[in-house]
Amino acid sequence: MVHKLMRNIGIMAHIDAGKTTTTERILYYTGKSHRIGEVDDGEAIMDWMEQEQNRGITITSAATTCFWKDAQINIIDTPGHVDFTAEVERSLRVLDSAIAIFCAVGGVEPQSETVWHQADSYHIPRLAYINKMDRLGADFYAVVEEIRSKLGAAPVPIFLPIGKEADFYGIIDLISMEELTFEPTSYGSEIVRNPLPEELKETAETWRERLIDTLSAESEEITDLYLEGKAVPAELLKAAVREQTINRSIVPVFVGASLKNIGVQPLLDGIVDYLPSPWEVPPIHGIDVKTQEEVIVDPDAKEPALGLVFKIQADRESGSLSFIRMYRGEIKKGTAVYNISKNKRERVNRLLRMHSNRYEPLDKVSAGDIAVVVGFKIAQTGDTVGSEAKKVFLEQMHFPEPVISVAIEPKTISDQDKLKKVLDLLKQEDPTFTVKENEETGQLIISGMGELHLDVLMTRIISDFKVAAKIGNPQVTYRESIAKKTLHTEEFHKIVAGKENRAKIVLEVEPLSRGTGNTFESKIDEQVLPREFLDAVRRGVTNAFSSGIMYGYPTIDMKATLIDAEYDEQTATSFAYEAAGSMGFDAACRKADPILLEPVMHVDVMVPKEFIGEVMSHLTSRGGLIESLESKVSREHVRVKVPLAQMFGYSTALRSITQGRGTFGMEFSHFAMKEGGL
Ligand code: GDP
Repeated sequence: MVHKLMRNIGIMAHIDAGKTTTTERILYYTGKSHRIGEVDDGEAIMDWMEQEQNRGITITSAATTCFWKDAQINIIDTPGHVDFTAEVERSLRVLDSAIAIFCAVGGVEPQSETVWHQADSYHIPRLAYINKMDRLGADFYAVVEEIRSKLGAAPVPIFLPIGKEADFYGIIDLISMEELTFEPTSYGSEIVRNPLPEELKETAETWRERLIDTLSAESEEITDLYLEGKAVPAELLKAAVREQTINRSIVPVFVGASLKNIGVQPLLDGIVDYLPSPWEVPPIHGIDVKTQEEVIVDPDAKEPALGLVFKIQADRESGSLSFIRMYRGEIKKGTAVYNISKNKRERVNRLLRMHSNRYEPLDKVSAGDIAVVVGFKIAQTGDTVGSEAKKVFLEQMHFPEPVISVAIEPKTISDQDKLKKVLDLLKQEDPTFTVKENEETGQLIISGMGELHLDVLMTRIISDFKVAAKIGNPQVTYRESIAKKTLHTEEFHKIVAGKENRAKIVLEVEPLSRGTGNTFESKIDEQVLPREFLDAVRRGVTNAFSSGIMYGYPTIDMKATLIDAEYDEQTATSFAYEAAGSMGFDAACRKADPILLEPVMHVDVMVPKEFIGEVMSHLTSRGGLIESLESKVSREHVRVKVPLAQMFGYSTALRSITQGRGTFGMEFSHFAMKEGGL
């Protein structure tokens, strides 16, 4: 079967490297975008949610399709902020290859390192694009070296910059050995190819030799020609670059200044020439629901349907848009598919392909492709959908710990009803936040992974969905646990409506090592306690796990074991055993030296050299433990562990210490004991 010329790519970049600008230029040149919107005007095309425009950062994983030289390119948006690690992982899962954008001045930033290594673990072939060559301090060769030394990759320049900073005016094509310049009057649409000027020949020859030398390591054909002193044809070079990019031996390097419309079309050619189609990447694995065995999912359109919902965008008007990547078979509009994660059928009312400024209705979406389903009601981000007859489960996603929360209080009863509906919708979009009702105050507590994550959620609720509500200050979500093993006997007795309810159980609680989670085990069999009562104890205990010991925070890393029980046929009830389970767990924990645990964050701070002293002492005064300090060309990079409670408002503090020139990123590291309680 002849497959479509198709690419599913992601664009990875540290914030500010130029992802939005480059994406816009791509959409412009591919003819699907009719204007060049500047990010600075807040008109970016990918940023189609109001708040993203305000922030100037792209945080959703929506997909946009464009066409270049007969190839269909689906661009899957990859968030660059570590607050959205789960979204990064989810988008990495559905793309087949990526472009990594680096700033020619900033080089490899710590957050790009994190995302790069995540992409390594998903075996994603990549092109590197070194942007902003026109900026003061741009150094192409230093960034190439950083890609080698910091990321452990094998960068191979395919293009070289001509000039730099204000004098940057074009690029050298090392394969055709030509000079390329971009006509400013046509926004760079017109490309002029000229033979290399004399003064550039030597540099170009040196780097072409290096390119050939690198490629020859895995290509006998090139080695032979090289040894015989013969010219290596361009087609052979390109084929070798393609093969070695897809098997991830090399990372071809492109260069440009997207804002100045230089270098973007060669990058588009690179996507088509060097990146794989969905049929050229290793097939994904899934779990057969019936046999529980691992199966390989071949991307064959004739096989039973299988796809992954990788993003849901709740829309006020049309309900939910479910972005889906098909791995096998096809889904047709107007039919039903099976949601394998939820065990329910769902109807596909409409199928759409999203372009930058319009959508196109489709009749079907097939293996390898990406589309939007309109009509799903229960699907959540991360669900597997497909054929009911042949159920396969695509690997479960892992969600990070919610460590920070805000209270939200609707202004009126009608806002309260609306809020509950909106939260259900948002939950479909983003399963990583949690909602809990505070029983004492009736407030809803929403927990997420960081301040920015909650900020984004609150903006969605208040501005997009227009719910009138009061929002509290962000608070740390602590955890509770215990320090010693303890045995406890719980007797429950209550008369309800003249009927006696009795239960007696012996529970043991013990601490587990950090990161193991909670478990419940029963050491008694059905002779001692009938199944229904044992289940009731389990329910009571596991519910109590989430309601804490001293402060009402969820408990973690502990084990509860049911050691013994007594039961009397006349008075035993499920109600009594469930209550004994939960009250017994609580009482046992209170005797077991309860402890409070606080989230500690891994923080990366980048600052110009002159501020490093003050930034470090400030971090130390906030309880930070400095782990490493590393000098870069013009900046210092500090890695530090800091309790989350000390990180509130850090962006403002850092800005004032460094006159706005420092940047930082943070992610959850671990829970540590907090001395002295709250
Ligand atoms: P993102 O955060 O990675 O999406 O980066 P943006 O595309 O929003 O770019 C960040 C800033 O850098 C914006 O002010 C852009 O105008 C600017 N920028 C992007 N590309 C270039 C470039 O090639 N040269 C220069 N000088 N500035 C650029």
